[in-house]
Amino acid sequence: MVVSDVLNAKKFICLAITEAFAGSDVAGLQTIATKEGNEWVINGTKKYVLYPPCGSNTLIMYLGGSQMVSLLIILPSVAEQM
Ligand SMILES: Cc1cc2nc3c(=O)[nH]c(=O)nc-3n(C[C@H](O)[C@H](O)[C@H](O)COP(=O)(O)OP(=O)(O)OC[C@H]3O[C@@H](n4cnc5c(N)ncnc54)[C@H](O)[C@@H]3O)c2cc1C
Repeated sequence: MVVSDVLNAKKFICLAITEAFAGSDVAGLQTIATKEGNEWVINGTKKYVLYPPCGSNTLIMYLGGSQMVSLLIILPSVAEQM
């Protein structure tokens, strides 16, 4: 639902890709997300994230367990606690 709303320009989304040591070269990402039970645990620091105060969803780019670059959508209520 979130993805289709963004593609149809009904919602904005924050992009949290850039890190201090990884800009356009996302192979240098250091943020890690792991699933623990029913929860995702995200460790890392992002910068240049546009629109975070707008209550929009956040699309965060991270390294998964197998070191693969992946995307996770964070709902506004969770993003406020970050
Ligand atoms: C107005 C604005 C808004 C932004 N909003 C967001 C946002 O909402 N979310 C977000 O995540 N980021 C955002 N950014 C950050 C933007 O995406 C980064 O600036 C971008 O990823 C480039 O990273 P960098 O500045 O660290 O440059 P670098 O990644 O250090 O790149 C510098 C130069 O090196 C080149 N380069 C990089 N890696 C390689 C490589 N492996 N081989 C050869 N050449 C390479 C690049 O092409 C570039 O010319 C924003 C930036 C601006 C200016």
